[in-house]
Amino acid sequence: MQPTMMRYELTLTSLFRRAGELYAGTEIVSRNPDKSIDRKTYADFDRRARQLASALRRAGMNKGDRVATLCWNHHAHLEAYFGIPIAAGVLHTLNLRLHPDEIAFIATHARDRFIIVDSVLWPLFEKVRAKAHFEKVIVVRSADQPLPGGAVDYEAFIATGDPGDPLPALSEDDALGVCYTSGTTGKPKGVCYSHRAIALHSLAAGLADTLGVSRRDTVLPVVPMFHANAWGLPFACVMVGAKIVLPGPHLGAADLLDLFERERVTMAAGVPTIWLGILQALDAEPARYALTREMRMVVGGAAAPESMIRGFDKHGLRVVHAWGMTETAPLGTVSNLGPDADAWSDDERYAQRAKQGIASPFIELRAMSDRGPVPRDGTTPGELEVRGAWVAASYVEPCDEGADKWTDDGWFRTGDVVTLDASGCVKITDRTKDLIKSGGEWISSVDVENLIIGHPAVKEAAVIAVPHPKWDERPLAAVVVKEGATVTAEALRAFVAAKLAKYQVPDAFVFIDAIPKTSTGKFQKSELRERFKNHVW
Ligand code: AMP
Repeated sequence: MQPTMMRYELTLTSLFRRAGELYAGTEIVSRNPDKSIDRKTYADFDRRARQLASALRRAGMNKGDRVATLCWNHHAHLEAYFGIPIAAGVLHTLNLRLHPDEIAFIATHARDRFIIVDSVLWPLFEKVRAKAHFEKVIVVRSADQPLPGGAVDYEAFIATGDPGDPLPALSEDDALGVCYTSGTTGKPKGVCYSHRAIALHSLAAGLADTLGVSRRDTVLPVVPMFHANAWGLPFACVMVGAKIVLPGPHLGAADLLDLFERERVTMAAGVPTIWLGILQALDAEPARYALTREMRMVVGGAAAPESMIRGFDKHGLRVVHAWGMTETAPLGTVSNLGPDADAWSDDERYAQRAKQGIASPFIELRAMSDRGPVPRDGTTPGELEVRGAWVAASYVEPCDEGADKWTDDGWFRTGDVVTLDASGCVKITDRTKDLIKSGGEWISSVDVENLIIGHPAVKEAAVIAVPHPKWDERPLAAVVVKEGATVTAEALRAFVAAKLAKYQVPDAFVFIDAIPKTSTGKFQKSELRERFKNHVW
């Protein structure tokens, strides 16, 4: 028997139209560069994104053309997130934290035709423009900021579009957007998402057992909209009609806490370094902010230390730990407790929440060693491989490296070393390149870091492998101490020794001012390895 279902294209256009019809009054709040607050509604968003779509087509954007953004998180960026793809263009979010030469390389590789850029990023853009060509430069600015020469004002540009223009019919296999990976080695590589992948990813993000984004939520993505689509939250929020709060360029703990309180935020998302700063601010002044009880803080991009999860619980705030990659759009796994956890001890529950969790529907995982799949026993490590409905099958061409990331049987090699347990829960122990091999034994840098960070005097810690004449490699811990606190290497050694096997305890604890970070806020361990490669043991 043949199925008798309609063929219905899974496109962003469908989600966009529905939001415009159903959620007209829901708010979209942005913080401007001067810290004033901009309030719009979904009705405004619907009209303005349609205007942008129409203006782009009138300006000569054809199906499949790339339109770049170089923007902080704000309402115009959200309009671009929808206005470009519903007009059959391809949204290319450029990472403003990269070096201008790298941004120029990426924009040229993607063959971006137009760009939307924040006026506060103009000095950066001028350096990019020296090395990359854009046919049209559209600037988002407030009325009192001058319009740079050769650029078009964003408001004037969208005013050339008619919100009544019909939207083009799209196939679910059409390109929606492109992101480049922020790898610390090799050239940046592009991942191009289809409408279908993003539509299904959005549905998945709405499930109660994943992120559970709902119409009743007020969502603040701290994660930049240039980092893996702000983890898909802008798309998922519009799908369900959640109130959206966008922080602009102000990502300091006090500014964010102020917005959480003022806008009654129920869910925010960002990398651990952002949350550690927020936790320290809350610990310092526990009574200062009246936050929504049980506010969820989605933590991803790097491991959420157990001490951080416990720390937020004390303030009545709930960490939701998730794992993903640019190549997986990015949602892969989420750590939520199942019904069996009701019978567990507190310690067991915290240990589970610090793991990366189980696969979303339509995502499959396996952990592989040289000898094939490793047993799901929670202890045997293997490299995590993934396949699914929103996982990349290749990088954007031309690309002469990275083909080895896909196995012959069609799985993507993540480069993450994990254990899987019988319940399918993933625990990331390291990146393959960050593992430490000492005397033939592997040491997980992540495990050791997460213990050190649990010490009350420690602000940040990164553990790296340093060459060693006898053991091949030994762990060195680079530690940043909290302002006003003091601690000795001996005290830290004693603190972690209680919970680690002897060979896992770092041989050296060195105190530094700051851990170097990548453009997306992760520890740049390659830089630390370089700095300490001649360490004398
Ligand atoms: P990106 O493509 O820049 O988002 O980086 C993806 C990588 O970030 C993954 O392969 C992991 O190494 C790391 N990552 C993401 N989420 C987590 C997490 N929850 N715990 C540990 N590592 C993570």
